[in-house]
Amino acid sequence: MQPKEQLLSLQPYKPGKPVEEVKRELGLEKIIKLASNENPYGCSKLAKDKITEELSNLQVYPDGYAAEIREKLSGYLGVEQEQLIFGNGSDEVVQILCRAYLSPETNTVMAAPTFPQYRHNAVIEGAEIREVPLINGNHDLDSMIEEIDHQTKIVWLCNPNNPTGNYIPENDFVQFMKKVPSNVIVVSDEAYFEYVSANDYPNTIHYLKNYPNLVILRTFSKAHGLAALRIGYGIADRSIIKGMEPAREPFNTSRLAQAAAIGALEDEGFINECKQKNREGLELFYSFCERKDLLYYPSEANFILLDVNSDADSAFNYLLKKGYIVRSGSALGFPTMIRITIGEEEHNKEIIGHLEAYIESLVESVN
Ligand code: PMP
Repeated sequence: MQPKEQLLSLQPYKPGKPVEEVKRELGLEKIIKLASNENPYGCSKLAKDKITEELSNLQVYPDGYAAEIREKLSGYLGVEQEQLIFGNGSDEVVQILCRAYLSPETNTVMAAPTFPQYRHNAVIEGAEIREVPLINGNHDLDSMIEEIDHQTKIVWLCNPNNPTGNYIPENDFVQFMKKVPSNVIVVSDEAYFEYVSANDYPNTIHYLKNYPNLVILRTFSKAHGLAALRIGYGIADRSIIKGMEPAREPFNTSRLAQAAAIGALEDEGFINECKQKNREGLELFYSFCERKDLLYYPSEANFILLDVNSDADSAFNYLLKKGYIVRSGSALGFPTMIRITIGEEEHNKEIIGHLEAYIESLVESVN
């Protein structure tokens, strides 16, 4: 049985091998996964407490409208409740946007490489994909503007960008918004928002009033450490949210996810601590790269993309044998780079030690 034609060119998402399987295969005691940009410090105790309370209600469907977290988040962000939509991860908000706004008569503009789910969902909807290569890891906003025409429905900005970690500064963002026609949706995917420390990172919420075509995506999966529960959200003008709501499944975020998100929002201290430790981890990687003269992209997220000056897969396999799972750049459009999630200090130091040995082994093999 053939699925619809556009699915024939797509591969299902390939998750990394489960940690237990890798342990067994390689006979390793300890495996550290620094591949999926998860929070190495877990989640807030307040989130866990909310989950425990909610365990007595597992027989009851969740509130599809997610009223409690909606109210809390609208106050927290300073937006109207009708400006929010929740998804089973921000992945699902991407899917809902594509279902609601893309069709075979439309096109959609995005950077390349960027977060692959924009492309994936747009292909399923049969839209034409217009990809604009990054320049030095940054969105080429001028060229993205040139790709927009009367059939363009959505333009995707990934800020900070996955997998490079680069960010779009406020001034560039505003200049871009001014040039985009008002009937084209601009998505600012801010999955790593809580980790950003650059002073000129745009406060996009502030621009929602001027630009009713702006959609902001955020998630509880990264700094809040709730990836397992799957809850993310979109913030936009109420007319865009209204357009998306019919494409959302009735009970798409679980009771546990909604409860945990409420607890997580109450714990700013946890986020600040994770952000601080992440910065320190990034600095460790930066100084290693500078010492070894390795190219890297300065990151505003909780991962770093760095150049191993050799085949990314061989660096990946080397690190795997040492007990570290990272993301090889070969599948991400960077064949000599690897993406490493910033971990706990001990693990950052240990993986840097392994990387150093790997880089030295390359030099020896050349000599
Ligand atoms: N956007 C970006 C840029 C991401 O890196 C991710 C996670 N890999 C997501 C969205 C989706 O995250 P989630 O569905 O867990 O909210």
